[in-house]
Amino acid sequence: MQDYEVIIVGGGPAGLSAGLYCRRAALKTILFEKGMPGGQIAISKDVENYPGMEAITGFDLAEKMLHHARSFGLEISRQEVAQVSAGHDYHSVRLSNGDIVRCAALILAAGGSVRKLGIPGEAEYLGSGVSYCATCDGFFFRDKTVVVVGGGDTAVEEALYLAKITKKVYLVHRRSSLRASRILQSRLMSEPRIAVVWNTVVTEIRGDGKTVQAVLYEDTDSGEEGEFPTDGVFIFVGYSPNNQLIPPEVRMNEQGFVITDDKCATNVPGIFAAGDLRQKFANQIVVAAADGCIAALAAAHYVEIRKDGAGSS
Ligand code: NAP
Repeated sequence: MQDYEVIIVGGGPAGLSAGLYCRRAALKTILFEKGMPGGQIAISKDVENYPGMEAITGFDLAEKMLHHARSFGLEISRQEVAQVSAGHDYHSVRLSNGDIVRCAALILAAGGSVRKLGIPGEAEYLGSGVSYCATCDGFFFRDKTVVVVGGGDTAVEEALYLAKITKKVYLVHRRSSLRASRILQSRLMSEPRIAVVWNTVVTEIRGDGKTVQAVLYEDTDSGEEGEFPTDGVFIFVGYSPNNQLIPPEVRMNEQGFVITDDKCATNVPGIFAAGDLRQKFANQIVVAAADGCIAALAAAHYVEIRKDGAGSS
């Protein structure tokens, strides 16, 4: 069994930023990331909205964050975390190899995952016409035609955002009524650059091997199939937090996002959440990095208070 002052679970922008700040605060810290450090951004093609980086690939930004955190001596383990347990005196993490690692403060930064359609062409054209983020990629479709898939709040909000940039947005929804809130629906209906295509599912994304050129669709009422030309496909069919490892004591909202206060602290003393896993307004790289900073500073404060308490008792 090994002891750390801070354990970070997840190596995306939130986790790496937390690691950097923890090490600058001289905390004995380990970060667990079973996959590629950088999280979701490592697979983003171009990032143009991270302040100070006018244009950088997601992979390069992830590399820079990793290098930066390591330069302060952050220990990073590729071991898979099998279980996270909240305790009174310490919290612990059980690894898939059976090892147990304990800590005073735990920062949960496992992120989230966009739901995929799972159709042909979706993975092939990711970053080359297929996107799950209008704020990140909308700019590349200036004056072009795009298809938005989904009928919830996210799809409608993102379609409205895209309508300001693109020539035409076709919002394709599988039913005849939207799940999105009424206010968003009324904004959608009064936006002339958006056309809603009802009762339709996208069944395939086609291109020339380099960029998207069309979607294949099916009318869910008539069964009629067809092909529709488009420059891009934005998919917003739901987003799931990676909350499988969250201990049962930690409060989450109805959608499974961890509820925190303004210090990124959960309801369990010494457990913090940062990044896309946390309930908040905007899921952006810069917000995740800021969350990591806040969680680390709050964790440092927590560790210090515990030391002071131990010293005075
Ligand atoms: P969501 O509410 O779960 O909506 C997902 C949409 O995608 C639904 O319209 C669903 O269709 C459709 N869909 C799901 N799987 C599909 C598939 N395989 N093929 C085609 N369509 C599919 O997800 P969300 O829009 O990301 O919102 C998530 C939560 O965040 C919601 O609680 C939402 O209210 C909240 N949110 C709030 C705001 C805001 O208040 N401003 C903004 C964004 C999100 P069906 O309707 O037929 O199921």
